[in-house]
Amino acid sequence: MDDQGCPRCKTTKYRNPALKLMVNVCGHTLCENCVEMLFVRGSGNCVQCDTPLRKNNFRVQLFEDPSVDKEVEIRKKVLKIYNKRDVDFSSLREYNDYLERVEEIVFNLTNNVDVENTKLRMDQYQRDNRDIIHKNKAKLTREQEELEELLLLEQQGSEQRRLEVLQEEQRQLQTKRKNKQDLLDELEHSRVPAGILLAQHKVRAAKLETRIEQQKQVVKPTNLFSTGIHMRQTVSLQPVPKIEEVLYQYRPLQVETYGPPAPELEQLSRLGYLNHVRAALPQDTAGGYTPALACLRAVEDALSGLFFV
Ligand SMILES: [Zn+2]
Ligand SMILES: [Zn+2]
Repeated sequence: MDDQGCPRCKTTKYRNPALKLMVNVCGHTLCENCVEMLFVRGSGNCVQCDTPLRKNNFRVQLFEDPSVDKEVEIRKKVLKIYNKRDVDFSSLREYNDYLERVEEIVFNLTNNVDVENTKLRMDQYQRDNRDIIHKNKAKLTREQEELEELLLLEQQGSEQRRLEVLQEEQRQLQTKRKNKQDLLDELEHSRVPAGILLAQHKVRAAKLETRIEQQKQVVKPTNLFSTGIHMRQTVSLQPVPKIEEVLYQYRPLQVETYGPPAPELEQLSRLGYLNHVRAALPQDTAGGYTPALACLRAVEDALSGLFFV
């Protein structure tokens, strides 16, 4: 059963499906009513961890686990400062190290590990990289705008297509109606037998239908997708280069023991070792078990390490 609920007033989603849970920067949950009540003045302390909170920092809890909400919020904030891209680094290695540092910061802040130092590190980074942060932010905004423009164009395009399809359908309907009217007129006035007229009409109607079908199949190609992916990109169908590798070769296991050599598996019975081992029951033998195997392990164990080196 879903036992998500407000820790303060104990209302659960089970009892009140309309319950709206909110979460703040510390990752603790409160229901909307409790937030309204406790944070009338706009700020207050978390009921659970006493962190000073502001009311307008409360967000609707999106994930079942409120700490995920907390991490998402923190990540957003951290990535605003740590907005470097791969092109800002001279090597992939450096970029990866940078990404790892970012992850560490997000982890620390989410899990309350070394928070003070982490924040100091972030401040220091922000001071050191002021220019590049600013530059990347502008770049990001520009890309966002371009994407929005693209989306708008796409929307207009599909609206335009919708209208065209509608007009085309209207035209086709009119043509069909006219054809029918023509047939009726001809039947009324012409001296040609009705059967022939009907056959002619059928041929004309069929021609019209095929023309309509053909038009439907002509779809205007698009070149650019709103994700920024170019359509109809040529994809190389070359086979993936084969990696030449040396094949694995089996070598029997060499166990070094510091003791007298154990007898071979085949010798156990002859040497009388098996006389003291319980015979295998039918259900034991599943999976290839034989009493000799267990006996051999025991003898090996007993003999190994007998000599001090
Ligand atoms: Zn509550
Ligand atoms: Zn809290």
